[in-house]
Parts: sequence; C-alpha cells; structure tokens
Amino acid sequence: MAKEREEIVESSSGIITTTVDFVFNWSRKSALWPMTFGLACCAIEMMATGASRFDIDRFGAGVFLPSPRQSDLMIWCIAMGACASTGGPFPTYSTLQGIDRVVPVDVYIPGCPPRPEALLYGIMRLQDKIMQEHPTRFMFGRGSVSQEDVEGSAVPDEAGENAAA
Ligand code: SF4
Repeated sequence: MAKEREEIVESSSGIITTTVDFVFNWSRKSALWPMTFGLACCAIEMMATGASRFDIDRFGAGVFLPSPRQSDLMIWCIAMGACASTGGPFPTYSTLQGIDRVVPVDVYIPGCPPRPEALLYGIMRLQDKIMQEHPTRFMFGRGSVSQEDVEGSAVPDEAGENAAA
C-alpha cells in the first residue's frame, strides 16, 4: 500500500498525477471476478470465503461468474489446495497430478483444505503480481518485450526440446 501511495502524487490544487500502468493495474486488481467452479471439499472453503464472515468482496473478488468467458480468475490459476496444486493424496493415473500441467498457475495455496484466510492471502499475492505488470508496454510498444517475456519461456518443439535453444 505504501508503494501504491508513492505512485500517486496529489497537488494542493486537487490534481492527481500517476501512470497509466498504475491505473490499469489498480483497476484490474480491484475487480478480480472468479469463475464459479468447485469440485470437492475446497469448494466449501471457497464458498465460506464469499460469505459474510470473510467477505471476499473487500478485495473486489466477490462476483463469481459462471463461464470463463466472463471471468478474470480461475481459482485454479490460484491453485487452491493440495488437489489442485499436486494431485493431493491421490498419486494415480486417474487424478491430474497438479493443474499446472494444463494451465499456468500464478499462486499456489497449500492445505487440505486451505482455510478462507489462506484463499484471501493468495488473492492478495495475486494482486501484488498484477501491480508489477506493465500493460502499456504491450499497448504502445514501449520497451522491448518479446513473446518469450509474455509467455515466460520458449515453446518446446515436438521432440520436447526448446525450439529457441
Ligand atoms: S485439497 Fe483436500 S480439501 Fe481440497 S479438494 Fe483436495 S482432498 Fe478436498
């Protein structure tokens, strides 16, 4: 929060100056709308996080929507719990051994199940990551950002080797 205050400068005449990156990131982090999706025990904790005692709305993440097309956040890209993070206690072929084998994960939350406070903490860490992004680099071509910067690493070829190596 202190860093956020540094990025906003308010003059005595009531004018506020800041960066486009800050405004974009602040508005994105303040409106994380999760997808309504839960399979098992962790979903009960997710529901509790949305209820009045924990009130996920305080973090702008209380609007659960029914389709990925309408949502910002899968609580999978936050990998919530042991099952989503590692396949949980089931080392079998019939259980996916970590959702990061299918989709990239930003934040892992340990626990079986994690408590609502842990999910809220994970959302705050995701908000921290959002605040470090530079969306104007992509919009206006400022700086040199390659496709690898966007995706994190080069795409492997069919033999499973790095095509850029
Ligand atoms: S991590 Fe534990 S609590 Fe969460 S869905 Fe798996 S078995 Fe259930």
